[in-house]
Amino acid sequence: MRIGVDLGGTKIEAVGLNATGKELRRLRIATPRDDYDGTVAAIAGLVRQIETETHRVGSVGVGIPGTIVAATGLVKNANSTWLNGRSLQVDLGRVLEREVRCANDANCMTVSEATDGAAKGFGVVFGVIVGTGCGGGVVVNGRVLAGPNGLAGEWGHTPLPWATGDELPGPECYCGKRGCMETWISGTGLAKDFARVTGRSLRGEEIVAAAEAGDAQAVAALERLEERMARGLAVVVNVLDPDVIVLGGGLSQVERIYANVRERLCGLVFGGGADTPIVRAVHGDASGVRGAAWLWNPEERS
Ligand SMILES: [Zn+2]
Repeated sequence: MRIGVDLGGTKIEAVGLNATGKELRRLRIATPRDDYDGTVAAIAGLVRQIETETHRVGSVGVGIPGTIVAATGLVKNANSTWLNGRSLQVDLGRVLEREVRCANDANCMTVSEATDGAAKGFGVVFGVIVGTGCGGGVVVNGRVLAGPNGLAGEWGHTPLPWATGDELPGPECYCGKRGCMETWISGTGLAKDFARVTGRSLRGEEIVAAAEAGDAQAVAALERLEERMARGLAVVVNVLDPDVIVLGGGLSQVERIYANVRERLCGLVFGGGADTPIVRAVHGDASGVRGAAWLWNPEERS
């Protein structure tokens, strides 16, 4: 059995999958906020409950809202700030008496789709969650490429490439820099761009709905989003040249993005022309918890 845990700011969800990805059991509890020891105990409790109820033992993967620095094993960049600076992976391993793997939500989405989703069968997968924020991940042959700094795939905090006059210095990002991809191509970024250009205040999903209803200003905002996403992904293709790009999160539901971004991407990569498929994540909200489970891939011995 593969047990996946999705540690969120408000809830912890856990799932047990069999070798073919069938859900054996799924549990959900509230996150003990601001309580590190309570969080470790809650995760361990869910794992044990799944094992008891299914009469099986499992490997354990945990999706966390941050990264783990390889050299120190400490969590950083977690918006659930009580995890930062803590040895979550080691502490969970000690309590559960087995090796536990942790990865951030974008890495989990990417490994979920690479294992038995839209990117199944592809060797090098670049995944992006385009939701409230924007995070990326790289999976190679079913395994997360983390990197010594835990930063591989952190595309959301790279600057918008080929920025023009009115895009510079770019919107402020919570990370302390300006003009990060996240400030442009997240749902939040879309809403702010729309407000700057039109003076109208709509949320990301309202802009999408308005565009579908023929609102010219909303259509133009989506065109800007697609063009900027293509610029960002052209750099990814130039550096990594993944076999497939998979999009998850709220904005991945917008059908027009796929053909439009692909077409623009072809004109932006070095030398022109790219065959890279851009596909939509199929596991939706379950990607986090399923991806955590697949941090131990189906063929591997745990
Ligand atoms: Zn940033």
